[in-house]
Amino acid sequence: MDNCLFCKIVDGSVPAEVVYRDESVVAFKDINPQAPVHLLVIPTKHLSGVSDSSVTEGDTLNKLFKVVADLADKNGCEKGYRVVSNCGEDGGQTVPHLHFHLLGKRHLNWPPG
Ligand code: AMP
Ligand code: ZN
Repeated sequence: MDNCLFCKIVDGSVPAEVVYRDESVVAFKDINPQAPVHLLVIPTKHLSGVSDSSVTEGDTLNKLFKVVADLADKNGCEKGYRVVSNCGEDGGQTVPHLHFHLLGKRHLNWPPG
């Protein structure tokens, strides 16, 4: 999709510290990390977010969550981690391309502010 920051990271026209890539999923380091491990895991296909009507089609979510779990494992999050997908204005979503934040290696408070 034109003018989508994360589509540009997928196609390589915007640089990112990519830590995983296959035909349907890309994961990269968040530019403004909120924890020692802060990765973003996204589908290569543009979906606007969790509320996108296509989000449950096919095996996209299965693949994303498999990559999240593998990356948590590889990045030493054995004490636990958090997976977050902000959705829409009230959810605090700033980039309208579906993404899951993987946060780990520090204790995270609950509830969020
Ligand atoms: P959200 O606010 O949930 O939509 O998350 C968007 C995330 O993208 C934020 O945590 C940003 O720090 C991150 N971000 C924005 N631009 C970039 C970029 N060029 N490379 C990596 N992460 C980015
Ligand atoms: Zn996109």
